[in-house]
Amino acid sequence: MDAGEKRIRTFVRVKPTAEFAQDVIKFGPDNKTIDIYIKRDAKKGPVNNKQTDWSFRLDGVLHNTSQELTYEAVAKSLVSEALLGYNGTIMCYGQTGAGKTYTMTGAAAEYQHRGIIPRALQQIFKATAHSLDTCVTVRISYLEIYNETLVDLLSTVGSGGNSDVPMAVVDCPQGVYVKGLSMHSVSHEEDALNLLFEASKDNFGETNRVMAEHTLNRNSSRSHCIFTIYIESRFRLFSDVKCIHSKIDLIDLAGLDRLSKTGSEGQVLKEASYIHKSLSFLEQIVIALADPRREHIPFRRSKLTHVLKDSLGGNSNIVLVTNICGEAAHVEETLSSLRFATRMKWITTEPVINETYDQEGRVRALEKEITLLKQELAIQGCLANRFLVSYDPLTDSQIADIKSQVHQYLEGAIDEIDVSCF
Ligand code: ADP
Ligand code: MG
Repeated sequence: MDAGEKRIRTFVRVKPTAEFAQDVIKFGPDNKTIDIYIKRDAKKGPVNNKQTDWSFRLDGVLHNTSQELTYEAVAKSLVSEALLGYNGTIMCYGQTGAGKTYTMTGAAAEYQHRGIIPRALQQIFKATAHSLDTCVTVRISYLEIYNETLVDLLSTVGSGGNSDVPMAVVDCPQGVYVKGLSMHSVSHEEDALNLLFEASKDNFGETNRVMAEHTLNRNSSRSHCIFTIYIESRFRLFSDVKCIHSKIDLIDLAGLDRLSKTGSEGQVLKEASYIHKSLSFLEQIVIALADPRREHIPFRRSKLTHVLKDSLGGNSNIVLVTNICGEAAHVEETLSSLRFATRMKWITTEPVINETYDQEGRVRALEKEITLLKQELAIQGCLANRFLVSYDPLTDSQIADIKSQVHQYLEGAIDEIDVSCF
């Protein structure tokens, strides 16, 4: 890896369960490896070449780990770096019911069960409350991708939405953004939490009136949800204004479920195939990104990969949480999830601080510098006995005067051009 390059950090979080399959899933003593054992199928005869043991090495196995410790392992340093200007992406991946939403959003009712999103907001507002010479703006957006359709989960809550603009993923030189997605300025943790829980009520079994139109007859596991926090800090640096901006994408992916297992038809089957397609495109992107010889990465093949183009494509700290169930019945999904995690591990990114300088501040600083340089030149002029020299730009009449002198000189009317007075 080159200097400045980073690998994606990957974690596996095991959902607590009464029937944990101890002989199928085993954790290494350093809490970084997870081994899967599947007994050979006796019905298939003595010769069975199918691999039965797998070992995965990740950055951490979170087993019986509280929401607080999960946050500390997974998100804390990424959020601290976002406050310094680095973009960040945290993604939860895994089968339905494995704990993605619990990890990302958590349970609204109980404070200690809050997930990564509310804790990240808390960390940001706590950090910014103490900065005296910095002006920080925090904005949020909440995007859902359902059957390749973009849905603004905050369009009708609060203000800032623009429902007239059809939503679309747009590539521009500054990066990818979602046109028409509403952004909400939040000045307190509570404001942000109210918006989050208002929009994601259906994740906790309640029907959200606002979202009823979109969420009727389905649950949130059938869509990808991206909660984004945009942080902009402006601070004075002498006469200049420096601006640092970053965003954190917090992604709760749709459930990775085998089509055959869902046994569904009609609308549910349609949803399942959309999910299946977008997750396999995501996997293809991950494989392509991990291959240094690969030049073209087909980000535009699905809305999810297109939206994540900037995050996955380079300038972001990335953390993947793979949520798994500990039961033997789900071992196939557990294996697919862990395989995805190990593929993600090979992607390298090169996060850089996003900083700009305020144009007006910059102009003011340059003007000040010019004034100082002119004063300096005037002093030098005095010392060299050139009292009449001015370092201001020539006026129109002075230019006209010089031109006329040049003409006269060329015509032979005068012998010398007098420029010393300028
Ligand atoms: P997913 O979003 O992956 O479909 P959920 O987050 O909705 O799954 O989890 C399914 C259920 O399991 C929820 O009732 C959730 O509260 C519970 N659950 C998941 N993970 C944990 C955990 N680590 N600790 C306690 N409960 C959990
Ligand atoms: Mg969910």
